[in-house]
Amino acid sequence: MIGLISATAAGAAARDRLAAAWPDRTRVYEGAVPDAVRAAYAECEQLVCFLATGAVVRLLAPLLADKRTDPGVVCVDEGGRFAVSLVGGHGGGANELAREVGALLGAEPVVTTATDAVGLPGLDTLGFPVEGDVAGVTRALLDGEPVALDAEVPWPLPALPLTESGAAAYTVRVTDRAVAPGEREVILRPPSLVVGVGASKGAPVGEVLALVEGALRDAGLSARSVAEVATVHAKAKEPGIVGAAERLGVPVVTYSAEELSQVEVPNPSDAPLAAVGTPSVAEAAALVRGGELLVPKRKSAARPAMATCAVVRRPGRGRLAVVGLGPGARDLLTPRAEAELRRASVLVGLDQYVDQIRDLLRPGTRVLESGLGAEEERARTAVAEARRGQAVALIGSGDAGVYAMASPALAEASDDIDVVGVPGVTAALAAAAVLGAPLGHDHVSISLSDLHTPWEVIERRVRAAAEADIVVTFYNPRSRGRDWQLPKALRLLAGHRSPRTPVGVVRNASRADESSRVTTLGELDPATVDMMTVVTVGNTATRRIAGRMVTPRGYRWQEEPE
Ligand code: SAH
Repeated sequence: MIGLISATAAGAAARDRLAAAWPDRTRVYEGAVPDAVRAAYAECEQLVCFLATGAVVRLLAPLLADKRTDPGVVCVDEGGRFAVSLVGGHGGGANELAREVGALLGAEPVVTTATDAVGLPGLDTLGFPVEGDVAGVTRALLDGEPVALDAEVPWPLPALPLTESGAAAYTVRVTDRAVAPGEREVILRPPSLVVGVGASKGAPVGEVLALVEGALRDAGLSARSVAEVATVHAKAKEPGIVGAAERLGVPVVTYSAEELSQVEVPNPSDAPLAAVGTPSVAEAAALVRGGELLVPKRKSAARPAMATCAVVRRPGRGRLAVVGLGPGARDLLTPRAEAELRRASVLVGLDQYVDQIRDLLRPGTRVLESGLGAEEERARTAVAEARRGQAVALIGSGDAGVYAMASPALAEASDDIDVVGVPGVTAALAAAAVLGAPLGHDHVSISLSDLHTPWEVIERRVRAAAEADIVVTFYNPRSRGRDWQLPKALRLLAGHRSPRTPVGVVRNASRADESSRVTTLGELDPATVDMMTVVTVGNTATRRIAGRMVTPRGYRWQEEPE
């Protein structure tokens, strides 16, 4: 809950806007300000105070205890110009809240936490349990001192300016082993361990927990890297298993007996086969998604033993984000694309596209750029990096799936990596918005590049579009070495459309030197078209209205609901 406190009429007005926008997230505290602040501080996870920072500092100072548990506090000034993240920037989420409040009230978010200010992720905000000298290593990262990455378990991390080898004074160590952090060292605990558990009906929580903890301890593994407790469907509600998982702070994940019975395990036995229909529960449930068996099946110490467990290190799954950057203008790059770029530790793309977004990358992001033509190699590199456990962003202009990198990359990719696609505004849409409404009815895109597609195939598709009276956008319309294809394609369309059919030509849509014109099939001079251009040819219903290209939605569209 977010507690809202104000003192003045202007403050109350801004407060009411927040309360109205977030009715389920906020609670208004009225009455004397000191009492209201104290009550909200005790009862809420976050506070927004429409008060001077000085007043809030004086009231909060005696209440502050620990930055990991203190509420996050944001102050908004009387003029509503600034949303200041005052305390609890990371742990209390005040930095994020300041941004949200700022967006809602039109106020500038003020964030002074050093890592946020320079675009570095805080080591304590990566989503991994963290141990050791967080302050010291963060300081070193901020000061640009070399910090070495020592990753015993390859796991996708966001980009941090880390060096590969150990020559540095500071270290970020990624391990699931039960080691203590050294001096000037931070240990990140990846969620790499899966504990498979089997239990007889009524097995006590204590017995299951002691078994699991003993197994981890004997194998030298950290409980903080346990990602889940895995078992068979039939045991999903077994109190001993559920209770042990709760104490470990992880979910219980279950699989069918049939699926488990197909997993090859070193220690199958008859008892579970008779009870639940699979020769192995603990080992099979731990291994079912692959990985390395670190602790083979062992039984609890009680007699008769009522629980079994096994521990597996699952492979870190790399992540490949295929990100469309849009046609060029920064404000046509989606927030989701920006978030993926910031998350990446490796960026792969054509050098000219990398230049478009270099300022958005986090310090330390490894950039693998290449020149025109090396598509296959870029695709292979991106996939190979993801398979090494990296978070990779593969970028393309417009939409990365339209005549671009998504298909060669996914043709290479196997199911051992996660793939996310971020759509981008493709050239046809960027151009259409410039031209008017040329795509109001059925339309196709056709690339005139015959580098990878035989001309006969391209020609067959142009003919089909011509016969079907479909609006056509030509990508890759013309280059220095390819000059006859566009005139040929236009002649094919002209066989079925009047010479007066509107044609839109847009060069560098949304970029600084954008230019466009609407002409006709009969008048278009192909020599004025180049590779930075798309050409959109209307259908027989397309009209030029007030200089804009408009394709009606159809003859009966007015009768149809929106
Ligand atoms: N993935 C890109 C297309 C790559 S093919 C996208 O979705 O937009 C390259 C062709 O796209 C160029 O030859 C040109 O025809 C077109 N193109 C890309 N960006 C453009 C822009 N900003 N303005 C006009 N045409 C563009």
